This record gives sequence, C-alpha cells and structure tokens, in this order.
Amino acid sequence: MNILVLNAGSSSLKYQLIEMDHETIVAKGQAERIGIEGANFRHRPTGGKPEYTVELPIPDHEAAVKLVLDALAHPVHGVVSSKDEIHAVGHRVLHGGSEFSESVVITPEVKQAIRRYFILGPLHNPANLMGIEAIEKILPKTPMVAVFDTAFHQTMPPKAYVYGIPYEYYRRLQIRRYGFHGTSHRYVSMAAARFLGKNPQDLRIICCHLGNGSSITAVDRGKVVDTSMGLTPLEGLLMGTRAGDMDTAVVEYIMQQDKLSIEEVMTMLNKKSGLLGISERSSDMRDVFGAAQQGDKQCKLAVDILIHRIRKYIGAYAAVMGGVDAVVFTAGIGENNAELREMAVEKLEFIGIKVDPVRNRKKADAMDISADDASVKTLVIATNEELMIARDTLALTNPR
Ligand code: ADP
Repeated sequence: MNILVLNAGSSSLKYQLIEMDHETIVAKGQAERIGIEGANFRHRPTGGKPEYTVELPIPDHEAAVKLVLDALAHPVHGVVSSKDEIHAVGHRVLHGGSEFSESVVITPEVKQAIRRYFILGPLHNPANLMGIEAIEKILPKTPMVAVFDTAFHQTMPPKAYVYGIPYEYYRRLQIRRYGFHGTSHRYVSMAAARFLGKNPQDLRIICCHLGNGSSITAVDRGKVVDTSMGLTPLEGLLMGTRAGDMDTAVVEYIMQQDKLSIEEVMTMLNKKSGLLGISERSSDMRDVFGAAQQGDKQCKLAVDILIHRIRKYIGAYAAVMGGVDAVVFTAGIGENNAELREMAVEKLEFIGIKVDPVRNRKKADAMDISADDASVKTLVIATNEELMIARDTLALTNPR
C-alpha cells in the first residue's frame, strides 16, 4: 500500500511516497522555484536507487506533479512499476477555516471550500488546490484526502479564538484565531502520550513546534485549548522571518513615517522580520545561534527574544490548563538545538519544569530530557507531518 503525500507551497512542491504496511518512506523529493527562473526538481529514492536531480523550467504545479509521478514510476530511478501502484494521495492544505475539524476525502464540495479560504491562505491554498487538480487530471481514479493545518485547533473555545475587535468582524468575515501546524501538534502530542505510556485524555501537554515557522499549542486532554498563531501564521513567537506578537499600531506608525503601503508593511512583517530582522544576518537559527555564541549582539538579542517568548507562552498555557504534565519540543530548532531548549525552560522550575543537561544533549526521535526531580516531563519528539497525513489518508480511503 503506497500513499503519496503532497505538500504544495506557493512556488514549491514537496512529496513523499510512503509504504504503509511498514510506514517507510520509499522516495521523497521536491520541485522548487515553480513558475520562476532556475526551477529544479530533486527525487530521492531510499532503497538504493540513484538520485535524480534536474534543472528545467517548471511552469506550474501541474507540471511539477507530472515530474513527481514520472520520477516515481521511472525505469531507472523509479520506485513503483506503474502509477497505479500509487494507491491514494494525501494533500497538506493550509487553511480549512472553521469548516474542517478533521481530514476529509476530497470531493467537489471540499475543493470549493479550499477555494473559499483562498482569502485566508492566499499563498498556500491556491497552490494546494493546484496540486489536487493536477493529480485529478493525471490519476483521475485515485482517492485523495485533504489534511488541514488548521483542523486540530478547531476544538479551541471562543474565549481563545475570538479577537477583541467588534464581533461583527467574526460574524461577517470569520476573523478569528485559527492556528497552524495542527498536523504536527496532533502527531507530536499523540506521540508524547504514547512515549509516556499514557492516554492523551489524561495529559495536559504544551507542544513547542520551533522551525522556520513556529507555534506553541496547549493540548488539554487531547483537545487544543489555545495556540500562538492566529488568523494567519504571523502571530505568536519570533520566527525565521515573521515578527510574531506586537502592537498592531506599529503598522500605522511605520506606514506614516516611511510612506509605505499596507502591502509593503505586510511583506516586512512576514518576510523581513523575526530572526532575520533582529539579527540583521540570517533567518536560519544555526547561523543566528552560532553568531550569538561568538558574541554578535544582534544575534544574541534575536535568540533572547525567541527564548523569552517561548517561556512566556509555556507559562501562560500552564495557567490556561491549570497545570501541565508534559512540555514537548519539536521541529528543526526544537529537535536540534539543545542549548535553546535548556534556556527556554530556565526559571520554570516553579511549575515543575526542569531539564537534565546530560539527557538534553542526547539525540533520539523521542526522548525524555526531564531532570529526576521535575514533576513535569520535558520531551523531545521528532515531528512527522507527512506520516500523519499518510495515516489519515489510509484511514479515510482504505485503498487497495
Ligand atoms: P520548516 O518550518 O521550514 O519546516 P524546520 O522545522 O526544518 O523548518 O526548521 C528550520 C529551522 O531549524 C532553522 O532555523 C534551522 O536553523 C533550524 N535547525 C535545523 N537543524 C538544526 C540544527 N542541527 N541545530 C540547530 N538548528 C537547526
């Protein structure tokens, strides 16, 4: 049973083909710079077949999907003997609004809903739909599932998702907190419960997904009760290039002072802020952290801001849930940067969170880094959104 997982971005398409009997990746790769000069495609089979990399014009997502399917069934670097051996396709979809609290089989109505939320996910939802339609054209009989980044957060109560602006905006324009990285938070919180040998219903978990985009989620007995991202992924922590939390009056002030348009300010907040904006060097934590350790003041400030916010959200979410049983770190920074983890939970001993420095320096897909005298478990769990998408796709389509 092979499930193809597609993750379409505005100018990229990432994929994994997962064999579900053993949940192993058979091949993965990506098309980059779709519709832009310098487009390239990379296919990496995992079973010893040669890698395949090519630079060629990729005009649109349909062309990218075709490259993926051709590579998967190619006589030299392919991993299936025909496209029919791709039994189902799971699509990561950014925004499902308030309509989807779970993954769904893709129907014309689901496509219509994805289109309806173009306005809330202007870069991703159109790309996601293009990926879906490209598969429909090439593999019209293959079942497909949409897995929404927003779905897991739909359990949030109104007090956590309604903004303090006239309610009419929620009623008329559905302006509210939606939250993102839901598939990762779901995977990681379930994996944390399994790792601890407990039922998710018995745990209050704070999930820290720290990657290029970062968010923290409070999962109270299996249900999200709050999350740091909002209407869009701009709110919350300091990220690679996104500003995260700030007074919205900053927007007006900058527009007036620098005579910028709203589009220019939004680009600044989404693309030029965060680690990049503060460090004035890089959006990549490896560069920023390395330079901070060498004494670079701007980089140190960027790291300090991120750590301050992580600690603040952990404290806030422990308060929201009336306590916490486990804090989980995941994604590129959360899984790899042990020093940052240690610094982020410093001072949280008063709520029982304490990391053991030796355990924290180890590396594993799932590990307990808590000190012996900590009453709260601190874990590191490698996220796997693709596997979660594949599992949902299998459960909903049960193809053969
Ligand atoms: P994305 O949101 O693009 O999926 P990732 O989860 O891959 O992002 O996280 C990217 C971030 O993780 C970058 O800031 C990168 O510097 C950081 N990162 C990745 N590997 C390491 C590492 N070994 N040590 C420290 N930081 C790392």
